[in-house]
Amino acid sequence: MSMTVPYREPLVPREPGKRIVPEPPRRGEPGGPPCGICSGKTTEPVWSDENWTLHPPVGGSLPGAVWLASRIHVDSFANLPEELAADFGRVVARVERAILALGDIARVHLYRWGDGGAHFHVWFVPRPLGMVEAAGMMLPLWEDVLPNVPDEELAAAAERVASAM
Ligand SMILES: [Zn+2]
Repeated sequence: MSMTVPYREPLVPREPGKRIVPEPPRRGEPGGPPCGICSGKTTEPVWSDENWTLHPPVGGSLPGAVWLASRIHVDSFANLPEELAADFGRVVARVERAILALGDIARVHLYRWGDGGAHFHVWFVPRPLGMVEAAGMMLPLWEDVLPNVPDEELAAAAERVASAM
């Protein structure tokens, strides 16, 4: 596979900026704005169980993308109670299988960033079958550059994922 950045050459490497310490507070941590997930300011879940909720994105370009959040407000893997940490693998497998069932998908990429909000959530982003230039770390860049599809289309694909869970 030959990954390709979604920009024309030449791209010129640049130096990182000055470090900002302390970092600005994220949503849902002390000093930051309220948690969007706890305050219900996100898309409605298309699927849920006692531990997790599954949501469609807005403003995205790859139908089938969804994000999974813990019901409880904890930051990251390091903060998940043991029971949820163990349950995570089970639910991720279910989501992955459900996304692959949409068809025309090569692989489901799983991302945990955590830089925007302090409420545990992970992203599932399907790499379209045959789109080898978007392999590996290139997929989020391509996702950003490709034209958005209507939010209704993203929600409809997420509903199909939910019904295959
Ligand atoms: Zn929260």
